[in-house]
Amino acid sequence: MPVAGAIVEATLAWFDEHRRLLPWRESRDPYAIWVSEIMLQQTQVKTVIPYFHKWMATFPTVAALAAADEQAVLAMWQGLGYYRRCRQLLEGARFVARNGMPTSATGWREVPGVGPYTAGAIASIAFGEPAALVDGNVERVFARLTACPETGPKLNRQAWDWAQASVPAHRPGDWNQALMEIGATVCRPREADCPACPLRPACLAADGDPLAFPTTVPKKSPTLLQHETWIPICGGRLGVRQIPDGQWWEGMWEFPRTTDGTKLFPGQETWPLGSFRHTVTVHRITLAVNCVRLKSQSDELKWFGLDELAGLPMPAPQRKAVGLFQTAQKSLIDFE
Ligand code: SF4
Repeated sequence: MPVAGAIVEATLAWFDEHRRLLPWRESRDPYAIWVSEIMLQQTQVKTVIPYFHKWMATFPTVAALAAADEQAVLAMWQGLGYYRRCRQLLEGARFVARNGMPTSATGWREVPGVGPYTAGAIASIAFGEPAALVDGNVERVFARLTACPETGPKLNRQAWDWAQASVPAHRPGDWNQALMEIGATVCRPREADCPACPLRPACLAADGDPLAFPTTVPKKSPTLLQHETWIPICGGRLGVRQIPDGQWWEGMWEFPRTTDGTKLFPGQETWPLGSFRHTVTVHRITLAVNCVRLKSQSDELKWFGLDELAGLPMPAPQRKAVGLFQTAQKSLIDFE
């Protein structure tokens, strides 16, 4: 059942009053909205804000991004994680630079890396098209509003049907953003502030237990992985290699690493520096970090000074490994 007109108007009025002031909301530039939506996937708003500012200052237009070197783009993304998003954004920008900027949700779906959610966001916010969108927040709001008992893909399908039937011709972008804002600030995963919610008069869950929706699916336990990495030092420089295609973090740089218990650099002078945990999707990785002193700089690695490493795109756990090295360098390791 689509939402009644009066509830739509109340929700838009609520959004006008309660919307958070976010940098991408000051713009109707489809490129800026695109960048923000990709960054916001799986990353919190407060983390995204400084990255968004830096990104837009460095790559202010699609043309600027399309012309950029992949390594520079990856370096700019460093710390946001899920680097696939960054690569797809770059690929998408190159596609748009060649083919022109789409102006509809259907057109945006042609752009590599742009799914139905992002296409709906750009088309409704930048172009005023009554295109729907469903993200995790909207799905939760839908599940509570309609007391939907479904889970997984069925719930998602029903949420999309509802969103498509509900998006108004008038201010569709604000309606979509209002639903997401309600999900982020009012109808939250572990707390529903129903008295403050503009959807309250239409909500089927509000008089019962809103938190019972969406129905929870038992989570799979994480896969535990053991990785080990070696920081090679020689002549005041550190050796890194580029991560091959098809592996996590492909195209970025790392110290030699094994994922199957193999020990590298046998017979060389080696120090353990410590270990830490890092999570990638459902994988919990324990990374053991070592330092190894080599007699010569092997051609299989590229050699950089510690300062130069700061400019290389490196995955977060490898950055942490650099941190361990820097700490140990002060007391244990004669770097030269
Ligand atoms: S009324 Fe309560 S449960 Fe329903 S959508 Fe609003 S906050 Fe969520």
